[in-house]
Amino acid sequence: MIRKKLIAGNWKMNKTSADAVQLAQDLVTEIGKVVDIDIVICPPFTSLESVGKAIDGSTVKLGAQNMHHEASGAFTGEISAPMLRAFFATHVILGHSERRQYFAETDAAVNKKVIAALKNQLRPILCVGETLAEREAGSTLKVVQTQLEAGLEGVSKDLATSVVIAYEPVWAIGTGKVATTEQAQEVHAFIRTLLTKLFGEQVAQKVRILYGGSMKPANAPELLAQKDIDGGLIGGASLETRSFVDLVKAAV
Ligand code: PEP
Repeated sequence: MIRKKLIAGNWKMNKTSADAVQLAQDLVTEIGKVVDIDIVICPPFTSLESVGKAIDGSTVKLGAQNMHHEASGAFTGEISAPMLRAFFATHVILGHSERRQYFAETDAAVNKKVIAALKNQLRPILCVGETLAEREAGSTLKVVQTQLEAGLEGVSKDLATSVVIAYEPVWAIGTGKVATTEQAQEVHAFIRTLLTKLFGEQVAQKVRILYGGSMKPANAPELLAQKDIDGGLIGGASLETRSFVDLVKAAV
């Protein structure tokens, strides 16, 4: 089973709308016709509309970094799936470790968002991963299993292929410490086994599992060559045209 690779850029809380449009335009010029892999950029909410317009007509897709599980209502400061769809977003990052750590997002909350995203034809990029303390305690696989199973609870077999999983060891995010290829492949293979138990072999072979955590053009080729690593969720290196373009090229 050949899975189409996916490179997603998580711009986090960076770039004004004008800066975001500039980066999006530069990316369209360089990689806007790439069809061999999927490319998604996830700007802040404030730039979704303008970036959506800047990438219109290219193969680069639009994603958001979070959303609320309800469609509308009294949830001050929140954004819903239908609002994201109105900007032609196709993907949404859910359960990022920064949301879990700084905004107290629980597995149950992440699960509601995953269900709501799928209901609205958005592809969730569900993030899972252990902290350094959890890795050192030998509980990496247990942590990943809990987050994955809870995050995917109630997802039907039919919709499971729309889900993207991102394995992001928390200790590797924004730290410059990348997981070794062996560490990453071990967890990715474990996730694939869990997906097989949940949804069967056929579905599990179709689900893309991204690696995230200090992925850079220099370490990407080795990571992307692993059997179960189907792309990357990129933070720091997605903020600059050259490095993101080089990451895309490493995946093609
Ligand atoms: C991320 O935040 O999803 C991430 C992987 O960040 P970085 O690439 O900067 O480690």
